[in-house]
Amino acid sequence: MSVNLGIVKGFDRIGEENAFAVLARAQELSNQGQDIINLGIGQPDFPTPPNVVEAAVKALHDGHHGYTPAVGIEPLRDAVANDLAKRHKTPVSSQNVLIVPGGKVTMFAAILMFGEPGAQILYPDPGFPIYRSMIEFTGATPVAVPIRETNGFAFSADETLSLITPATRLIIINSPANPCGGVTPRAEIEALVKGLEQFPNVAIMSDEIYDQMLYDGAEHTSLLNFPQIRDRLILLNGWSKTYAMTGWRLGYSVWPDSLFDAARKLAVNCWSCVNAPAQYAALEALTGPQDCVEQMMTAFAKRRELVVRELNSLPGVSCINPSGAFYAFPNIRDTGWQAKPLAKELLEKAGVATIGGPDFGIHGEGYIRLSYANSLPNIERAIERMRSFLNT
Ligand code: PLP
Repeated sequence: MSVNLGIVKGFDRIGEENAFAVLARAQELSNQGQDIINLGIGQPDFPTPPNVVEAAVKALHDGHHGYTPAVGIEPLRDAVANDLAKRHKTPVSSQNVLIVPGGKVTMFAAILMFGEPGAQILYPDPGFPIYRSMIEFTGATPVAVPIRETNGFAFSADETLSLITPATRLIIINSPANPCGGVTPRAEIEALVKGLEQFPNVAIMSDEIYDQMLYDGAEHTSLLNFPQIRDRLILLNGWSKTYAMTGWRLGYSVWPDSLFDAARKLAVNCWSCVNAPAQYAALEALTGPQDCVEQMMTAFAKRRELVVRELNSLPGVSCINPSGAFYAFPNIRDTGWQAKPLAKELLEKAGVATIGGPDFGIHGEGYIRLSYANSLPNIERAIERMRSFLNT
């Protein structure tokens, strides 16, 4: 007799991140002996800086193997607050800082707090796929904020504000952004914040995980800079991208006073605390030398130049210069391909892993995402393979 366990309905609606499926398929093909160039997954290809690794090893030798406070160790919360205050020139209290196991966890917590049937949550499309997935899981209605190439893949304040209704509970902002690499200019953020003053009951989650990954003098404007919304702002950030620490599962959030305790209780109920040696590594990452970040960004800048130039030389492909993160989001409409079949064929036939734009939302049709977290020679080889593929 087959069992019917009646899992709750939310799980019928929960989505996925196709980047992980592409990673698995790329691995499978590579295990079969195929030469695969992976421009799919969004993680720096650099190692975690050695001083950061050493700090974790030392923490274990020093006996930091037990539970820590659920909110994170005090010196790390202080370091996060100081780092944010210094970089964004605005006061941040360590009492509002929560250390979490990965950047994703903050969106999970924030969306759980505001998502329920009848609620609407605004999220960027194309955008990080987990926003929509989690919104759907809660039963809330996802409302896509289109992120347009014609607007440099930045948020439009007017368009975002026009989508707010009395049911809107939370707005998710992401700049610099995945998957398009757009950076929303200060003037647009200011206009957005000004407009949001008319909607005092709407919470804002600002995903700033790529905040140090900027090119050509682009500036990041943190939403922390606006005191008028600080009492409803949730900041998402972490170590994954800036310090090449995706597998450590480390992140942090800044919560307003009124939400902090709810977030803390979620931590107690779900993950208890972030693993202790990883927290000591995170402390070293923030307080130790920062030249690793600079070196990584110098390498990314060169790759970005190459990838954008070469993509623009492919038949039917055009690519605007992304101002942030490490993704190119070329427009492939004139190739005659739909985005997902193109990404699939590029992997299967040309050995190049990319992600189809629709994996980031319906407004991603006509685009594919290339993560240029790979070496210059590999990027060159990948584009040549794409050229041969598109020419046949
Ligand atoms: N936010 C954005 C926009 C991302 O692109 C990612 C990862 O790709 C995350 C959050 C999640 O980061 P983490 O790996 O620290 O959970």
